[in-house]
Amino acid sequence: MAKIHTIHCKDETSTAVAVKALSQAILRFYTDHPKNTPSLFVSLDGDLGAGKTTATRYLLKAMGYGGKVKSPTYSLCEEHMLELPNHRELQVFHFDLYRMQSPTEWQEAGLLEHFDHQDRQDRGTLCIVEWPQKAEHTLPAMDLAITLIHPSDPASEFARTIDIAAMTPLGETIVEQLITP
Ligand code: ADP
Ligand code: MG
Repeated sequence: MAKIHTIHCKDETSTAVAVKALSQAILRFYTDHPKNTPSLFVSLDGDLGAGKTTATRYLLKAMGYGGKVKSPTYSLCEEHMLELPNHRELQVFHFDLYRMQSPTEWQEAGLLEHFDHQDRQDRGTLCIVEWPQKAEHTLPAMDLAITLIHPSDPASEFARTIDIAAMTPLGETIVEQLITP
């Protein structure tokens, strides 16, 4: 069974704190693999306004990225280059597949190569995918499947539940660190 770590956030600041813990586990994953770093694939599920883009912004910021993180709603994918604590580079591909008209549109747009790390073993790759279900079953297997839930109770406008599920052994190493830091 997939290992799942659940965090209840009462407001946006608690989301930032939860995501910071995740960023530390992810950074450790890349620095523990100094050579031939495997790519890490993360999906982000949740309704419109659940906080997928917001969480991605906090994640990249906590990983040391100082630039603007534009929502990829119109472009399908935004790229960011980060420097890891061990001075290696980490290339981040942030996808938002919400506006796709067909499940394979992301492939037709030439974005498949972002999931292929064969030719860039000198740097790490992190793919973050909002609205993965729009691609149906055309995406590669995700290592982490994150779900953001906004409770329907109107009194909890700022509350979110974040489920982080490990889908591969690689994802499990990250979730294990979140459970036992
Ligand atoms: P999505 O990408 O899932 O459609 P966004 O991240 O674009 O959602 O929007 C989420 C909105 O909810 C933002 O305006 C953000 O400021 C707000 N928000 C309120 N509380 C939270 C919270 N606890 N966690 C994340 N976002 C929150
Ligand atoms: Mg979004």
